[in-house]
Amino acid sequence: YNSQSGNTLVARAIGKIRVKDVKSLPVVVREATTVYDSIVTLFTEDVGTLIIVDSEGNLNGVVSRKDLLKIAIGGSDTHKIPVSMVMTRMPNIVTVSPEDTIFQAAKRLIVHEIDTLPVVRTFALPNGLERQEVVGRITKQQLRNCLLSSVKGIIRWKIT
Ligand code: ADP
Repeated sequence: YNSQSGNTLVARAIGKIRVKDVKSLPVVVREATTVYDSIVTLFTEDVGTLIIVDSEGNLNGVVSRKDLLKIAIGGSDTHKIPVSMVMTRMPNIVTVSPEDTIFQAAKRLIVHEIDTLPVVRTFALPNGLERQEVVGRITKQQLRNCLLSSVKGIIRWKIT
């Protein structure tokens, strides 16, 4: 077994998989959602990050479990504070498009030291601005699983 060609095989397999092939449904809330209800959503949906959208499903921001923990342990009334006050907001959100490879997604997650990327479709507006519609999410965990199954597939193929 030659590890060099093994790495090349993994790179080739991964390089072909696109974000749209592995993305999952986005877990979203609106800007006016309270911090309390956002925390409840983290538990009920079993995710670490929520994506905040407007009424048309456009990306407004992202809130992580630590963003929510920080405000909760600060003694604020979580029933009164909207999630928009604690989220990281546009234009500072790192995203991927459905056509990007999962390799590009992995690089962004690593470089920016985050767990989740909103998957967005970008539309140009007549006024020269853009709107970004949220169509999914990609997490570190998903990419790890994807890498693992690619490697398993290659090893199986190599030994049979
Ligand atoms: P946690 O804060 O729970 O460890 P992350 O490491 O994913 O979770 O988030 C770290 C910080 O980066 C948080 O303040 C969060 O709001 C922000 N963040 C998370 N995802 C993104 C993203 N895709 N783009 C920009 N900022 C993000």
